[in-house]
Amino acid sequence: MPAQPTSWRYYIECRPDELAALVKTAPVAFWPLGLIEHHGWHLPVGFDGLKAERICIRIAEKTGGVLLPTMWWGCLGGHDRFLWTHYQPLEASDAILNRMVEQLIAFGFRAILLLAGHYPWVQLLNRRLPEARQAHPDVLFIWGTEVNIAAPDVLLPGDHAGREETSYGLCLLPELMDMRALRPGRDPADSWPAGIAPAEPDVPGVVIDAAQPLFAQFGVDGRLATAVRGEEAIVRLVDQLAEIIQRHLTTGSPSPAQ
Ligand SMILES: [Zn+2]
Repeated sequence: MPAQPTSWRYYIECRPDELAALVKTAPVAFWPLGLIEHHGWHLPVGFDGLKAERICIRIAEKTGGVLLPTMWWGCLGGHDRFLWTHYQPLEASDAILNRMVEQLIAFGFRAILLLAGHYPWVQLLNRRLPEARQAHPDVLFIWGTEVNIAAPDVLLPGDHAGREETSYGLCLLPELMDMRALRPGRDPADSWPAGIAPAEPDVPGVVIDAAQPLFAQFGVDGRLATAVRGEEAIVRLVDQLAEIIQRHLTTGSPSPAQ
């Protein structure tokens, strides 16, 4: 017989009584960490947060719990000067991260998954969460990106809007993508905030020629992406993380080494 679907809820849609009941049955909080930034011509600017959100939902379907609103106000990365990109001061992102984690623990959550779709979040997470884990050995903390969050045999490849992220997109949010937008010939003057293209990318390897189809990408050509490639990877990641959370809820096993 197929397993019964486990209930999960959007945190902000719950009433206090509902949250109290949920914390008793499935004290799991999922917090997707994103950023608003240019992700090539074919992906939405919220790609990192949306990717993390939809992976969290897939895990929550197996474990139950609550999904916090995606944290859009991240920092750091190689696209700061691009249009439609919003990097925040590091101290601001860091302060919200810490306050939220403290509150989630105080409110009774016993498994906290912080999934960063935007990779530089890990620098902040690695700074703060080891201390929280030490102070709260009964709480399972899992943090990282799809590239580094799971066991070594499950780790997914990553890039910026290239073949890997585009494959995850085709699997997780195809309705928000347009592969036909990967066409050449755009006017660079329309593609930079001040109309002046930089001479060099902030991070080597990022395509900064707006007339190129692969503008803003980093990694293998995003046109080589497939939904099958994305699905195969996402399923492995979701199964692994769901299993770690379920094991903790049933046996109270300690956090995996990070
Ligand atoms: Zn990304």
